[in-house]
Amino acid sequence: MIEVQSISKHYQHGGKSIAALDNVSLQIASGEIYGIIGRSGAGKSTLIRCLNLLERPDSGHVSLHGEDITRLDERALQQRRQRIGMVFQHFNLLRSRTVAANVRFPLELAGGQSPAQMDARVDELLALVGLQDHKHKRPSQLSGGQKQRVGIARALANHPDLLLCDEATSALDPETTDAILALLADINRQLGLTIVLITHDMRVIRQLCDSVAVLDHGRVVEQGKVLDVFLAP
Ligand code: ADP
Ligand code: ADP
Repeated sequence: MIEVQSISKHYQHGGKSIAALDNVSLQIASGEIYGIIGRSGAGKSTLIRCLNLLERPDSGHVSLHGEDITRLDERALQQRRQRIGMVFQHFNLLRSRTVAANVRFPLELAGGQSPAQMDARVDELLALVGLQDHKHKRPSQLSGGQKQRVGIARALANHPDLLLCDEATSALDPETTDAILALLADINRQLGLTIVLITHDMRVIRQLCDSVAVLDHGRVVEQGKVLDVFLAP
């Protein structure tokens, strides 16, 4: 479903060229949970920006469902982006909007639905993440875990076939992390949606992921099924 073929991305820094990604190749199967782990500076954010089409690699190709997206123009990219849900470390919720209005936001941006249809979809999404009873609250009235549930509901609003999670549990305590990982596993099973996540936390990989790539200095140094790559604890 996702094929990354020898992509490289360089940044200029103080007159020097730094390879944030150096010849990275990955194959991510439809319906799997794929983890990308590495230290700070390893290139994880750059890789995720190449997957969500916010950045073009200097060389190499990224294909989604057999379509080479590195060749698309901006208009076509924008369309494809709507099929990708993003979950962020710091939730990125709109503080002046209620929980329901935050989840409704991407539906409004996409257009094409009546207010009643959007409201029904919001209720469905809030039920999916267990927040039915909090729909009229503001983000500031929620715990970190609840905020991330809103973030996940919002990411799923337009029926994406790919969910990209950028350090989605890094701002949460261990117990809340477990609950969010369980929710993501549930969503993966229920909706059959592919999840790609980046993390620096080995526990996230062990608990949630089918496959893993280890990034170091912009290179993939290990890749495969989690059980093959890492020895059981
Ligand atoms: P994280 O490790 O949590 O992803 P980073 O500090 O690596 O956070 O990156 C945060 C943002 O800052 C990213 O959007 C990245 O592109 C940008 N960034 C990272 N390093 C640099 C840099 N040396 N110069 C400019 N922007 C950078
Ligand atoms: P990670 O997410 O694993 O922390 P990043 O992809 O943010 O790694 O960064 C990889 C490398 O690229 C780092 O050396 C970082 O400083 C550099 N980098 C990332 N984004 C930028 C940017 N916008 N401008 C300059 N350097 C960047």
